[in-house]
Amino acid sequence: MKPPPPDPSFEISLRPPMFAEFTGQRKVCERLELMVQAAKKRGDVLEHILLSGPPGLGKTTLANIIAREMGVNIKNTSGPVIEKAGELAGLLTSLEKGDVFFIDEIHRLQPTIEEYLYPAMEDYRLDIIIDQGPQARSLRLQLPKFTLIGATTRAGSVSAPLRSRFGMTARLDYYSAEEMQKIILRSAGLLGVEIDSGGAAEIASRSRGTPRTSNNLLRWVRDYAQVKADGKITGALADRALAMLDIDRDGFDEWDKRIVETLIHKFGGGPVGLNSLAVAVGEEAGTLEEVNEPYLIMEGYIKRTPQGRVAMPRAYGKLGVKPPAGAQQQLL
Ligand code: ADP
Repeated sequence: MKPPPPDPSFEISLRPPMFAEFTGQRKVCERLELMVQAAKKRGDVLEHILLSGPPGLGKTTLANIIAREMGVNIKNTSGPVIEKAGELAGLLTSLEKGDVFFIDEIHRLQPTIEEYLYPAMEDYRLDIIIDQGPQARSLRLQLPKFTLIGATTRAGSVSAPLRSRFGMTARLDYYSAEEMQKIILRSAGLLGVEIDSGGAAEIASRSRGTPRTSNNLLRWVRDYAQVKADGKITGALADRALAMLDIDRDGFDEWDKRIVETLIHKFGGGPVGLNSLAVAVGEEAGTLEEVNEPYLIMEGYIKRTPQGRVAMPRAYGKLGVKPPAGAQQQLL
């Protein structure tokens, strides 16, 4: 069973509203804070920023913090949502000077829309073609100076011309166990949930270094504690609650288990191409690559090689099977 989908009101209320409350990602935050301070001092508009990293690590949260600390509005959209140039024009012309225009999943923008974005980012103008055939005319719109913040789970898929138009690129990484515990304790405080350090540690260890996951798990454990106990979250209680969600001690959910099992049992530990693995697992290749794989790779369960995905000794250990004789040489 997957953790319950996030409840939007829950998500919003737990978002840290300013840098001071944002745990972790120290280097990225220091750089962003400095940029914000400098722009404010000059009375200037902030440069365009590209934030990358796995889902749920705080890209949207940081974009909101930046807008708030700059004292400007933020307009949110997502790459795949913008289908026509006219839609982009509508969004851009509704901005006021200095506003943040946030595009989530910016790597999924259509190439034609991307072309329109270049002059908008560089010269704050938009040339759109209206009408078709002989009547076609180009219309130039002057835009207010704005800040584009792009978020992507796949920095490598952002085209070079788009990437080069960002003044700053920052990559978010998974959070450490201590940072996760701090985030969980903060969220519990906001939710008015009683939790001890053992409970926070238990949830942290199964959250894959991802605050969105820990917030979801915390909500689940809170519900469990209210129904099955006195409402207080301890280590032992969190353990029982999370076992019920099929999330194991290593933070593996059902999909992670399936990926590792498929790789080892169906493909002899690999190498196997991403698409074949995704079909066998029953998941989309994109989701597998962006959501599950980064964590499995970081934790040393699987490895990406030019020939395909390969199971590492830790994955065999997890399943309690011995790596085949040839497997070790392949990894070297
Ligand atoms: P992304 O845009 O990278 O997918 P979000 O910014 O939506 O991730 O973050 C997901 C949730 O995790 C947010 O609602 C927020 O509550 C929480 N979160 C993310 N980063 C932090 C952090 N550093 N400290 C506390 N909570 C965080």
